[in-house]
Amino acid sequence: MNMKHKITTFLALTLISLTVAIVAIVAVAFRDYGLASAKEKAIVVSELVRDGLTVHMVNGIMPQRAYFMEKIQRSKNIENLWVVRANSVINQFGAGMMGEKAKDTIDAAVLEGGAMQTQIDEDSDEVKLRVTIPYTSTAECVTCHESSTDDVLGAVSMIFDITDVRYSGIKTIVYISVIALIVLAFISLATSRGINRYLNLFEDLSEAVKKGHEGDFSPRITTNLTDEGGTLAKLLNDLYELLSETVNHIDKRVSILLGGGTHSESRNPLTRTSDIVDDLVAIYKFKKTIEVDRDKKEVYDHIATVVREHIGHCDFALFEVLLESNKITLLQSTRTQWYWNPTSDTVLTEECRALRTGSAVFSDDALHLCKHYDGIDAKFAYMCLPYRMTAEVTLLIQVVAKDSAALDKVKGEFATLTNYLESARPVLETHYLMSVLQDTSLRDALTGLYNRKFLDEYIDRISKEATRSKVSYGVLSLDLDFFKMVNDTYGHDIGDVVIKGIADTIRGSIREADVAVRNGGEEFLVLLMNTTEEGALRVAEKIRETFAATVFNIPGAQLRKTVSAGVAIYPSDAGGMWRAIKCADVALYKAKESGRNLVVRYTPDLNVGQDIY
Ligand code: GH3
Ligand code: MG
Ligand code: MG
Repeated sequence: MNMKHKITTFLALTLISLTVAIVAIVAVAFRDYGLASAKEKAIVVSELVRDGLTVHMVNGIMPQRAYFMEKIQRSKNIENLWVVRANSVINQFGAGMMGEKAKDTIDAAVLEGGAMQTQIDEDSDEVKLRVTIPYTSTAECVTCHESSTDDVLGAVSMIFDITDVRYSGIKTIVYISVIALIVLAFISLATSRGINRYLNLFEDLSEAVKKGHEGDFSPRITTNLTDEGGTLAKLLNDLYELLSETVNHIDKRVSILLGGGTHSESRNPLTRTSDIVDDLVAIYKFKKTIEVDRDKKEVYDHIATVVREHIGHCDFALFEVLLESNKITLLQSTRTQWYWNPTSDTVLTEECRALRTGSAVFSDDALHLCKHYDGIDAKFAYMCLPYRMTAEVTLLIQVVAKDSAALDKVKGEFATLTNYLESARPVLETHYLMSVLQDTSLRDALTGLYNRKFLDEYIDRISKEATRSKVSYGVLSLDLDFFKMVNDTYGHDIGDVVIKGIADTIRGSIREADVAVRNGGEEFLVLLMNTTEEGALRVAEKIRETFAATVFNIPGAQLRKTVSAGVAIYPSDAGGMWRAIKCADVALYKAKESGRNLVVRYTPDLNVGQDIY
């Protein structure tokens, strides 16, 4: 039973109970009133009879009293009437011509006690009222009667037919009931009209809240109520409007960010949003963690951990494939012996369906889709996900589940895993780049930093990768202050010691993923990966301060030198990496001009008089 039915039933029962109670009270009251008035009438008639008999007695016409009695008895509703004498009167005057002795116990009781008695006899057809009134002796009576004042001399009994009291009572009850029913109907109609609007609103509200709880914010409530009910409906509509807009907005933004989202569309959007935020936070933390990984092995370890967390109890293996050389390396696996063992460390891309097509392979499509799993037990289900990390490197994630249902769960995590891999891409790209750059021809012999050749060969690639993965770089251009003097005063060898000193300071102030280049002579260039403006300025300031505090112990003297630096940010200051380097140079020039031993942040107004294009 819903709320509306409950309230309607409650109201109906209340009104019906009220009506029944009123009718019952009226019926009882009416009956009491009817009896009371019949009794009163009986008493009046009895007193009349007593007084009439007294008059007969005083006038000495007692023998004629029968006529009087008969007249009275003929009155309406009087069924019977008799007079009885007390024993004292019978003893003095006899029982009388009508044998006026006590007829029953009531007569006897009244003669004995001197108190009036009434009795109602009721059956289904008629109602009779018996009234017996005593005649008590007065001062006048004692003149004739051998009695004292207040002695009971006799009693008159009458039986009245008061059936008509009952009928008029029933008639009244019927009238009242009809009136009550009409009033009841009117009240029901009026209240149901008034209450129904609130009950309908309540039903709509509860339906809307139920849907909202399931994540459906489309219900809108319409009501013509203008009071608190109307306000409540409007507030709920506004809230659902806001929630729909916000959830849609988040969905759109997230699908742009994650390329399709990570969670099923059918679920409650609020729960989904919360899950997405959890995923984003986890991916962000993952990215922050791998950014400070020292080498690609550490990054692979972190990727393997993430895969392990998302595949439940399935087995997995992580392979690195170098596309140019077709070299495949098993990086991690949950089993000592993986299902598929590459027989050599090279794999023909043509033989690997996942590598050839660049898309995931699932055994649900066909068990032997991947020839590497030819021997696998048919009860198992597997998948192979290829993910292109760089132009040269693809990661293969292979999962073997105990059955298709278990693999389906892993498929549900597919989008999330892809997002993790996507976020690892720029970091791995940098590491791949770094490993390539171990090449000594790209290194400066004196300092061990990268040389100008490196800059010429790789700056375009770094800049392209930075644009693709939307990574920003802090660019520092550094030049020793008054370096010529060192050469001139202490000789070229001491000059070289100082150059090594600044190189060490730079190396000690940057991260593994950052790039430090000896750009020529005592000029250096530092590319700080994924760094904010504040971060870049902080590193530049650290290099400047550390170097200024460095003491070179040279024969017969202690030498201190300083360095000036210009700072620019790619891509916010310049669209290309070369242009950003030029901007940093302009800022460096300003630092020199402003007194040296300074870090200057590039601003466009510094371009005046400089040819940076
Ligand atoms: P400023 O503060 O304006 O930079 O003054 P500076 O004297 O440092 O002037 P500049 O930067 O033009 O000086 C460059 C000098 O660096 C010229 C050259 O003698 C010296 N130099 C260049 N390469 C080497 C090197 O490999 N070893 C040594 N010892 N000196 C070098
Ligand atoms: Mg210099
Ligand atoms: Mg110089």
